[in-house]
Amino acid sequence: MNDKIKSIEVFTLTLNRDIPYLGATGEGENINEKGYFVRDANKTVYSTFDRSVLLRMETTSGIVGWGETYGLVAPGVIRELITDLLANFIIGRDPSDPSVIYDNLYDLMRFRGYTGGFYVDALAAIDIALWDIAGRQVGKSVAELLGGVKKKKFIAYVSGLPKKSIEARGKLAKAWQKKGFNSFKFAAPVAEFGLVEEISHLRTVLGPTAKISADMHWNHSADNAIELIQAMEKYDLWFAEAPVRTEDISGLGKVAKNVTVPIAVGEEWRTHFDMLHRVERCKIAIVQPEMGHKGITNFVRIGELATELGLDIIPHATIGAGIFLAASLQVSSCMQALSGHEFQHSVFEPNRWILDGNMDCAAGFYTPPSGPGLGVEPSAEALEMLKKL
Ligand code: MG
Repeated sequence: MNDKIKSIEVFTLTLNRDIPYLGATGEGENINEKGYFVRDANKTVYSTFDRSVLLRMETTSGIVGWGETYGLVAPGVIRELITDLLANFIIGRDPSDPSVIYDNLYDLMRFRGYTGGFYVDALAAIDIALWDIAGRQVGKSVAELLGGVKKKKFIAYVSGLPKKSIEARGKLAKAWQKKGFNSFKFAAPVAEFGLVEEISHLRTVLGPTAKISADMHWNHSADNAIELIQAMEKYDLWFAEAPVRTEDISGLGKVAKNVTVPIAVGEEWRTHFDMLHRVERCKIAIVQPEMGHKGITNFVRIGELATELGLDIIPHATIGAGIFLAASLQVSSCMQALSGHEFQHSVFEPNRWILDGNMDCAAGFYTPPSGPGLGVEPSAEALEMLKKL
């Protein structure tokens, strides 16, 4: 094929929200002039709005592909990496083999230790756009390029119940249950009475058939996490996510060895190498690849490794425009070991849905977009909202 990559443009897309992601700010959690604040419970920076980086790539024949990555804080870093460095090594190349380009770009900075963080986020946005173009060139969805759809629909679990009180979160979960969703995850940093009280309340509200998992937000020592998970066991905890700090691999191993509840990790990983270091030492049960950090090429590698090792795959889904979610659903639908996918309901809210395409999530199940490429693209309204970086 003679088609070559002609241009790459980088944008931010900001979507306002009434209540910050995960829920209202707590006492003393002050919002700075950038709209950022730190949650006391996990020492992590959050923003009062949703923002992601969108990437538009066009070929000489006029095919357009879109990518998306994190842009919650310091989105200019992604712009610099792409415009100053990466674009120069992409423009003029054949887009039909995204994984080759991904590996070439990864190699550029490996020697200097840039094997994660913002650098690999930038690669993720590029990789998603390349796969989108590769599919559109031949009129196939990304899933078809990857060998075909194995799961036409799969469970969506409701994540984050952004309300200020335990009662309000219970009511919100119940409202989702009435709409046909019966799998949930709650977030430790906003559980004002702690994890055990939170699951106890949700179990009472949602009844015995609901699947309920806990996101522990990398916030515990191994011993503390073991104690908490054991205390949640009696409420039939579905899985315990991110129980210890991401660097604490021996702690993760200790937790996984000492509890019967499945341990889920992986949203913050960038590559399958991050997974390898952990699965060699820890009895992980579930991996949670996040498309916005990994891109399609690495997401596939993580999925293949998980399948080989007999682990469940339940991808993470972050907040944003939904381009990376479409990519995640395309790849997820090809994975035999997939047992569900996180559902960020804000992406689908009518006043925030800004994509053209048929991606949907209803009555507890995702329907992946069909294609070609990712099967979605920013609507005319979304294009108006993009801000050039
Ligand atoms: Mg999480």
